[in-house]
Amino acid sequence: MDWKPKTELGREVVEGKIKSIDEIIDRGLKIKEPEIVDMLLPDLGKEIIFMGGSPGKGGGIKRTSTRRTARMHKSGRRFNINACVIVGRPGYIGVGKASGREHVIAIEKATQQAKMNIIPIRRGCGSWECVCGKQHSIPFKIKGKAGSLTVELLPAPKGIGLCIGDEMKKIFRLAGIDDIWSRVFGDSRTRLSYTLAIIDAFRNLNKFKLSEQEEKALNKEELIEDNKAVPEKEETLEEMTQEILAEEILESETGSSETSETSE
Ligand SMILES: [Zn+2]
Repeated sequence: MDWKPKTELGREVVEGKIKSIDEIIDRGLKIKEPEIVDMLLPDLGKEIIFMGGSPGKGGGIKRTSTRRTARMHKSGRRFNINACVIVGRPGYIGVGKASGREHVIAIEKATQQAKMNIIPIRRGCGSWECVCGKQHSIPFKIKGKAGSLTVELLPAPKGIGLCIGDEMKKIFRLAGIDDIWSRVFGDSRTRLSYTLAIIDAFRNLNKFKLSEQEEKALNKEELIEDNKAVPEKEETLEEMTQEILAEEILESETGSSETSETSE
């Protein structure tokens, strides 16, 4: 690749000092050059989230890949093209949004953004109805938010497929997730918010450190609660967070070697 890195991180990648994207993410380093991702994840796929268009009078929505917005300028109206792009491969996803004067430019800028925002995805077989142990779903249920939109993703047994809005299926296919159940709270027609809420859920998935047994127990417990039609389970989730936080503090105090931070 004919690329002259501008950042120290880029140089380390070119020199082969850093060999994987996980190393960068684990160290909490910010990627400022998309070429870093091109080098470390060369087989990255790309999808455009169609977010243009608006609900029609008859209820039908004609979707376009980009959204055009106008703003007033002294010489008349100026148009801006907005695009949302996701990049990924099994186990990884990144989202980018950008605007430009032209369609192609907006998409290109959003693609570069998406690469720099790459995150790992914790996949798993979290459904208590499935014991295959393969990485076909997510390990436990999780929520994500973007503005007023909340998405909840739930592990599904093998063969269920992607039970989520059609356009959003692109995200899961790229990330290598075959089976998922979902619930949406809010207006899911806003594709950008919908996308960002899903990515937020993936991000939240990475925050929880649970053992496999705990994951199974959690999903089973909450599903039983669902059957009893318990209206809101925020408390139990909050308690869980508190417990995990307390555990982490304890760990750092006892000087456990499990911390992922480096001393640089
Ligand atoms: Zn399974």
